[in-house]
Amino acid sequence: MQELRGTAGPRTVAVVGAGPSGLAVARELERAGHRVTVLEEQDTVAGKCQSVRVDGRAFDLGGHICSNRYERIAGLLTELGVETERTSRYRVLDAAGRALRQPMAFLHDGSLQRYRALRAREFPRIAEPGLAHSARALAAPVGRWMAEHGLHSMAESFGTGFTAAGYGHLDDDIPALYFVKYAEMTGLLDPGPQLLGHPGDFTVVGGFATLWERVAAELKDVRCGVRVTAVRRRADGVRVHTDSGPVEADDVVLAVAPDRFLPALDATDEERDLAARIRSNAYHTTLAAASGLPEDGFYFLAAHTTSRATAGHCVSYHHRYPGSEVRTFYSYGRPDDVTALLRKDVTALGGHLEEVHVRREWAFMPHFGSADLADGALDRLDALQGRDRTWFVGGLPAFELVECTVAHAQDLARRHFPPAPGTLTRRAHGPALNEEERQT
Ligand SMILES: Cc1cc2nc3c(=O)[nH]c(=O)nc-3n(C[C@H](O)[C@H](O)[C@H](O)COP(=O)(O)OP(=O)(O)OC[C@H]3O[C@@H](n4cnc5c(N)ncnc54)[C@H](O)[C@@H]3O)c2cc1C
Repeated sequence: MQELRGTAGPRTVAVVGAGPSGLAVARELERAGHRVTVLEEQDTVAGKCQSVRVDGRAFDLGGHICSNRYERIAGLLTELGVETERTSRYRVLDAAGRALRQPMAFLHDGSLQRYRALRAREFPRIAEPGLAHSARALAAPVGRWMAEHGLHSMAESFGTGFTAAGYGHLDDDIPALYFVKYAEMTGLLDPGPQLLGHPGDFTVVGGFATLWERVAAELKDVRCGVRVTAVRRRADGVRVHTDSGPVEADDVVLAVAPDRFLPALDATDEERDLAARIRSNAYHTTLAAASGLPEDGFYFLAAHTTSRATAGHCVSYHHRYPGSEVRTFYSYGRPDDVTALLRKDVTALGGHLEEVHVRREWAFMPHFGSADLADGALDRLDALQGRDRTWFVGGLPAFELVECTVAHAQDLARRHFPPAPGTLTRRAHGPALNEEERQT
């Protein structure tokens, strides 16, 4: 079926999911003159980048921190005129709530130079969108990989932030691929130019969902509160069944985690096999008022980020607004335990947990284990792109960070959906127009 691509006029595309990757792909496709329908089961867009308002202030429940590696996001923010601000400073606290120094030895003890040489030799494309290009080289469990290359201080310098951000504890034996991608995306390994005038990390004024609401507002057909219940693929098109009736399209983009979507898909054996290998982390956000805790910062809790033995306890919290007691707390684990353990953790830090405003559980970071990466699971996922008129975007092929999912989704649309005849595309970021595109 792929021989149809790029031959004739506009294509019709159904995008399942209105998180960052679904909206980014839809924006690219519409700009290239294709007809897109975005289907989202929640009442609002933004996926794991939701923001809520409490006492007149916007709090981000999920994705919102951007580093100077976030060029595609900066591009979108600029195009849409969305205002940004610096994020809170980072701090590490010990079990009793005292501030600890985070020395970042990795950047100063000679390891960084060795890392750069290793990167140039074995995984030179790690900073590019996608993960498949570096997966085999970095398939080993992270502990073993760091030991093999004498990069122990990388764990000390980046492990706390990695675990606090939901990617698991380093002793979970997560493949090195995900840890290295995370470290790259912090922007600390190769300091680059400032983005949008910010010397460090930045976010969106008024909540990160504002960006995705603006992207959605420019799209022609975004349907929220519509759950996709089945996808049926035929030789001549795709029928997407929803709880509000069917949508016909030439192609379908799945901007949802494939394992969770599997029951709705008329899946092939290959799709089923890959989906069965996907793992994710149960990661929670609790938005709650708490008094007596350190303020004005993003706090990583050292006692709960070093070993999976403490999973379930709070790993980090963010106090964003001076004058407000409301904080966003993050933890792994079973939903029944989260608030009770959080209450204990806040008490141990010298504080008091008060009203809980919102709780969310996320299936965070869809990923493969070491053996599957070594066996080429991400190459197999890449090989499925476009087969049976189906495309996959999101954290699994790209890594669970907004910049990664957006860059991967944009590139996929640009590579595989050439502009419809007569369409003038303006492309500020990403790969240059190819020859075929230039001639259009
Ligand atoms: C607590 C937390 C903190 C984070 N912090 C950061 C951060 O600081 N910086 C950063 O870069 N990233 C961060 N992230 C990661 C970032 O939010 C995700 O990588 C990003 O949202 C992934 O986008 P996506 O579109 O691929 O998936 P999602 O955002 O998960 O969107 C998928 C969408 O599909 C919809 N959907 C699912 N099934 C169906 C169906 N059957 N029918 C219709 N719709 C469906 C869902 O409702 C959802 O809206 C964080 C995430 C979390 C949870």
